[in-house]
Amino acid sequence: MDPTAAAPEALGYEAARARVLEAARPLPEEEEPLDRVRGRALRRAVIAEQALPPFRNSSMDGAAVHSPDLAGAATDAPVELPVAGTVAAGDPPGGALAPGTCAWNTTGAPVPEGADAVVPVEDIVALDGAVPGRPGGRVRFFTGAAPGQNVRAAGADIRVGEVALEAGRDLSAHDIALLAALGIAHVPVGPRPRVAVIATGDELLSPNEPARPGALRDSNSPLLCALLEECGARVVSSERIGDDPGLVVAGIERALEAADVVITMGGVSAGAFDPVKLGAVRIPGIRLWRVAMKPGRPQAFGAPRGRLFFGLPGNPGSVACVFEALVRPALRRLQGFSDLDRPRLRVRSGRVVESRLGRTDFVRVVLAWRDGAWWAEEAGAQVSGHLTPQSRAHALLIVPEGTARLAPGDEADTLLLRLPGTA
Ligand code: AMP
Ligand code: MG
Repeated sequence: MDPTAAAPEALGYEAARARVLEAARPLPEEEEPLDRVRGRALRRAVIAEQALPPFRNSSMDGAAVHSPDLAGAATDAPVELPVAGTVAAGDPPGGALAPGTCAWNTTGAPVPEGADAVVPVEDIVALDGAVPGRPGGRVRFFTGAAPGQNVRAAGADIRVGEVALEAGRDLSAHDIALLAALGIAHVPVGPRPRVAVIATGDELLSPNEPARPGALRDSNSPLLCALLEECGARVVSSERIGDDPGLVVAGIERALEAADVVITMGGVSAGAFDPVKLGAVRIPGIRLWRVAMKPGRPQAFGAPRGRLFFGLPGNPGSVACVFEALVRPALRRLQGFSDLDRPRLRVRSGRVVESRLGRTDFVRVVLAWRDGAWWAEEAGAQVSGHLTPQSRAHALLIVPEGTARLAPGDEADTLLLRLPGTA
């Protein structure tokens, strides 16, 4: 065997990211009903084919009037107008309102043509048997009405031909409301990528298995499954395989049949028994690489048979970090999102952070608002085997490859994992 065949390729984080994103082509879109699209990537821009509001309507229950008719109305000089009719919510607009008359209007009802203001029912007095909602009688007005008062113009919210939603958007509950209002019942969205998860290690136990000497719990599988669900992917299988390269290769081969993305954890570094390092490279398209990032340097990556493969390190901190730095952006791209990363927040470093030129560091930090800025402090020792700093962290602070050191007060970008509480 060629001893250099499996030699890991060394590359910077940005180069690795570019390589990953190049391989992550958006999956074919699918048409879905509105109750299945929240949190998914809208694949084509939505143009309004109708205006919102679709017609001029009243924002109050009241009387529609020609505003000039109420010129000079005052408490001691009220104006009275006969009631010509009623337009309720759901009614067609009906005929034009004749000058010198008024019409009952309910909230959301079309304002009759000619009328240019609605006076709220609380501000008027009904006379001569006038009853809101019925024709007949008279209404007394005690103030003037400004043109446009309590009238919602057609198209004030959005006009025909305007872009309602951009392609690549992460559809929210409010976007779904907008689509429904525009009469759109189905939209093209990115599919949820199918992901197979494989944890490797002879030492691993499930949370509910009895403890035994030398064993530790598999915390990576539940971590990764939860992160995958959170970013829109669908976990189609999650299994654990011992440190046997043959079994790991067979597991990856099986997973490549049923998933768009296969992710292994552990067994990819320099250990004598590391089964991903020894086995995965036998699969055409998969290579080992050493990415100049901390944590998470030894990894495997590839695009075997049109799928994506990530061989993540085993330490929980590395899994969490490489997921945010490389895996999540790829999964978002597969779905067709335009935002691939967590929200970025510019912060100030609370203390010295030592890195190295050429290496990108991801530091688990807690954030606090102080003196008009967000300040980042380490969320605990940056040991990649530790789980508590990751659990405490609000964000990952990035020390990019061109920066060797941050001094207290220096600005840096973070990837925001969650917002700090107010306590
Ligand atoms: P490895 O790269 O396989 O040597 O793993 C590095 C470290 O991460 C070792 O201490 C492993 O025990 C630990 N580790 C590997 N896989 C997991 C897992 N699924 N859950 C928790 N820790 C793990
Ligand atoms: Mg291992």
